[in-house]
Amino acid sequence: MMTEPLIKIENLRKSFPIRGGVLGKQVGEVKAVDDISFSIRKGETLGLVGESGCGKSTTGRMILRLLEPSSGKISFEGKDITSLSNTELRKIRKEMQMIFQDPFASLNPRHTIEKILEEPLIVHGVKDRNARKRKVKELLEIVGLNESHLKRYPHQFSGGQRQRIGIARALTLNPKLIIADEPVSALDVSIQAQVLNLLKDLQKNFDLTYLFIAHDLGVVRHISDRVGVMYLGRIVELADSEEVYTNPKHPYTQALLSAVPIPDVDFQKERIILQGDVPSPANPPKGCAFHTRCPYAMDKCQSVKPVFKEVENGHFTACHLH
Ligand code: SF4
Repeated sequence: MMTEPLIKIENLRKSFPIRGGVLGKQVGEVKAVDDISFSIRKGETLGLVGESGCGKSTTGRMILRLLEPSSGKISFEGKDITSLSNTELRKIRKEMQMIFQDPFASLNPRHTIEKILEEPLIVHGVKDRNARKRKVKELLEIVGLNESHLKRYPHQFSGGQRQRIGIARALTLNPKLIIADEPVSALDVSIQAQVLNLLKDLQKNFDLTYLFIAHDLGVVRHISDRVGVMYLGRIVELADSEEVYTNPKHPYTQALLSAVPIPDVDFQKERIILQGDVPSPANPPKGCAFHTRCPYAMDKCQSVKPVFKEVENGHFTACHLH
């Protein structure tokens, strides 16, 4: 039986105006997210991957309603949350939390860890001080820190420890969905593995659902059940994780994968070097937005936008080759 989706995104779009001239009139728009649809099942991890500026973080922020979508629909546990009032939104926000790439920037440098972790509990009405203290201690232990860290400030921790604090803070209100935006990109490789393992353990123990955003396919491989690849505001491929890594359909996914190092020295794969830079989302190429860099581009690719469709069981892509 298929598990019902915790979150469902339908035809989501986000445009930002480009203003110019002395009067600051709108002279164009950037389509940061351009008609994407996907869902995440309860307990699942969906990895969302793409180069900087592809719209993956904008997508995460729209789900949390930190950014208003230009159009489209976001449903959480079957309920449309796209146009909730602020009071209703506040209730839903408890259920969805974010882990940031740079935990240092997201932690108030003047507050102790105890205060940082206690704050969301106060905001959401936990009045019993002892109950708050107990919860904070419990959270620290869950993420591998301890009571002795309570009175310290963010600058007194290593990068990995700070990310553990960021994770503890995200867990304070017992959320169902966690959006992790490049949570290990700023960490050393050895620490990355520890934080990824912690996230996996927490998922099992607390029945969490993750949207895991990254620019590197290598990072999301072991944590994701399914992977979506974004290019210039659109999802170009979406499938089970193993399927994406062993049977990528879209030339962009193939190129990204060819850049992921493989530990097996006997297996040499050919690196696909993409020509040119990512085009500006303010002026994306017509037809398939990837045609200016695609090694397989045909005439049709310059004028006809490929439809995002299922090409094998549960494997979706947007490419005229399929
Ligand atoms: Fe390449 Fe054409 Fe497929 Fe786009 S539609 S990825 S340009 S082959």
